[in-house]
Amino acid sequence: MPDYTVTIPFALSLINIVLGIFILYGRRDWSTRVYALFVVFVALWCFSIGMIFYLESSPLVMFAINLNYISAVGTVLLFLIFTKLFPRKTWNLKTISIVSLPIFLIAALILLDPSLIIKSFVSRTDFRIEYMTYAIYTFVVYTYILSAFYSLYSSYRESKDYTEKSQTIVVALGTTCGYLVLLIPNIILPWFLDYSYIWIGPIASLTMTTAIGYAMSKHHLFDIKVIATELFTFLLWLILLIRVLTSDSYGDALVNGLILVFAIFFGILLIKSVIREVKNREKIEGLATELAVANDELNSANVRLKGLDKQKSEFVSIASHQLRSPLTAIKGYVSMLLEGTPSYGDLKAGKITEAGYEALDRVFKSANALVLIIEDLLNISRIEQGRMQYTMTDFNLRDMVKEIADNMTIVAREHKLDLTFGSNDDGNYTVNADSGKIRQVIGNIIDNSIKYTPSGSVKISLHHSDEGSVVVAVKDTGIGIPASVIGTLFQKFTRSEGAGKVNVTGTGIGLYIAQEIMKAHGGKIWIESPGEGKGSTFFIEFIKQKTQMTENTKTTQSTNVQSSDKFV
Ligand code: ADP
Repeated sequence: MPDYTVTIPFALSLINIVLGIFILYGRRDWSTRVYALFVVFVALWCFSIGMIFYLESSPLVMFAINLNYISAVGTVLLFLIFTKLFPRKTWNLKTISIVSLPIFLIAALILLDPSLIIKSFVSRTDFRIEYMTYAIYTFVVYTYILSAFYSLYSSYRESKDYTEKSQTIVVALGTTCGYLVLLIPNIILPWFLDYSYIWIGPIASLTMTTAIGYAMSKHHLFDIKVIATELFTFLLWLILLIRVLTSDSYGDALVNGLILVFAIFFGILLIKSVIREVKNREKIEGLATELAVANDELNSANVRLKGLDKQKSEFVSIASHQLRSPLTAIKGYVSMLLEGTPSYGDLKAGKITEAGYEALDRVFKSANALVLIIEDLLNISRIEQGRMQYTMTDFNLRDMVKEIADNMTIVAREHKLDLTFGSNDDGNYTVNADSGKIRQVIGNIIDNSIKYTPSGSVKISLHHSDEGSVVVAVKDTGIGIPASVIGTLFQKFTRSEGAGKVNVTGTGIGLYIAQEIMKAHGGKIWIESPGEGKGSTFFIEFIKQKTQMTENTKTTQSTNVQSSDKFV
């Protein structure tokens, strides 16, 4: 049977070296380097303990003992430095050098005088110790260890980051367990001249090195679910490993070994899947936070935009009002001149030539067009500010449409277009609406049909839909509308591509206002067109509503309240 007092320290020395290399492989920052050096010193310390037992009866044992003390001070120094670099760097090179000085001094003194601490050594229970130096040595070692713990405590308190806090806790827990376990066999018992149990120290050291390694490698993942799974799996492996090592026969060892291999394989799979799940969850949580932030930004942008929109509407409203007064003056004077009013006050207009008349007529028409545009702009700001007022009355839509059509016939004729009006039936075309606004809507649609029809006809008709609502249809043989833009024309300032060629001065406001007015009436407006160059038909629908006819509007003898059809 191999002597475990020798094999255990040697094995742990090897394990620590492998661990150090493994950790250093992934990262290259200063805290990792210090940690790697710490692990090397721990490995050296384990190795020296193995050597003490191995060389117990040889004169070389003094070398192993001194190596043990030197490597021990090395580990505590590196542990302290590590806590000042991880999770966050708080020490610079100068501070590190100053703090390292006493340790270098101790190491140098031990090297210079090999019997500084242990005067003579015969066996693990028979040796002489220099109490004074051993006391100073222990004091220095514990000062460094306690400073390191205080440093961990400060990082925990100062850190606001959950991961950093968790990392600090893991380091503190691992190292506390380690130092507590080795306190008695490696520090206290030697005081009483007993080296027999110092081989326990290397086992305790593994707790420290793995805890620190774990804290560092789990830089981005400290989740209780992951930790629990890992602990459970490691425990399972440990139990299985012990079973392998304590197997009675070769056959048992083989079976237990196989079980261990399977457990390692599936354990790794399990840990990986839990990590993946947690990572996904973190990702989703991250995305949700990003979304919430984006949403907040969007909301505030929306509030800003609404504010701007309001300011814009106010500006348009004010500007339009300001434009209206001088325009009225222009129109008034030009109309006087056109009508041949000879004088205005003391001013004599004089005779206007035919060319002058023509020019003034153009000025008058342009001023009229401008008045309409300004009126549209004012309507837009009224709609957007919710100031559009509607006065609802009952009137016969058929009469109104016919009147507008009649008025437009002259304009259509000027454009060499055939404008006709007709209704499919003589039914009830009474609607309850704001007659002025509806006149504006229908006038605009017919006007558009004339503007956007280079040749052919404009047919205006009225009919009842299957549901019984009243529909005005304005069909032309004009430029038509491509399907791709048909849905966008009711938006503010939107025109189709071909529109500019036929009518240069359009603003793209009319249809928007028409739609808003129809919406306010609970009605509808829409376009149908087979495509570009194939004409289009505009529909304006007044939805039928059952309303109660009151006593004073009845013409019949009945005293009962009657129901009648109305369109709004
Ligand atoms: P405007 O006529 O001043 O451009 P509107 O809002 O009245 O503004 O019309 C918006 C757009 O709809 C027009 O620019 C034109 O592209 C299209 N449009 C309207 N009526 C017709 C029509 N009868 N035929 C073809 N296109 C039309």
